Amino acid sequence: MNKLVAGNWKMNGSLVSNRALLAAINPVAGVDVLVCVPFPYLAQAQERHPGVALGAQDVSEFRNGAYTGEVSVSMLRDFGCAYVLVGHSERRALFGESDETVGRKAVAALEGGIEPIVCVGETLAQRDAGLVVEVIGAQLEAVLGVLGREGMSRITIAYEPVWAIGTGRSATAAQAGEVHRSIRDWLLGRHVDAGRIRILYGGSMKPQNAPELFATECVGGGLVGGASLVAGDFSAICRAAAPV
Ligand code: PEP
Repeated sequence: MNKLVAGNWKMNGSLVSNRALLAAINPVAGVDVLVCVPFPYLAQAQERHPGVALGAQDVSEFRNGAYTGEVSVSMLRDFGCAYVLVGHSERRALFGESDETVGRKAVAALEGGIEPIVCVGETLAQRDAGLVVEVIGAQLEAVLGVLGREGMSRITIAYEPVWAIGTGRSATAAQAGEVHRSIRDWLLGRHVDAGRIRILYGGSMKPQNAPELFATECVGGGLVGGASLVAGDFSAICRAAAPV
């Protein structure tokens, strides 16, 4: 299976700056490249190179109706989104999204034909307390509870240690590998067919650390924040994910 490299632009960009960035993002043979852009720029990004997939950074758990400010799955589909991030740690921490909300958003996405990239990860305090497996297990359990085993087998998971996001302090390949393996074990333990589930690593991924992280067992790609805003860095990370 190809590795998936997803850029998360977060709340960055402008019509003018996006033009240059999008023009510089090119498909890489053997790699699935994705950009998750802010909602207003979906139309602009839709005109991207055909080999680059488009995604959003959030989605409503509701189908349509009186939910002011929300954006539905069908709207994302109208703009060609193939993926959507759900449960990014910034949404959990800053906007109060619970494990259950994340689960409902994942269901809405999957039922609407968009692959959710379910983000999970522990805080530094949770890591220090030895709770990594428990925290991630609870985050995944809430998604499994609503998706069921079959639905769960059709998602992407992003392991993003909260302490590594935007801090410049990436997990080491050994730390990432350990958690990725434990997520695979967790899925197996729940009898989820994990054959086509990609588990991405996210958290201060850069051209310098990407090759080692991608070479790590069970790492199926990357979710890239800050470096996805720098065309040369994002392209280098995408190239590092190519099969050897
Ligand atoms: C992210 O926002 O998903 C992320 C991984 O950010 P950064 O690469 O900047 O740490």
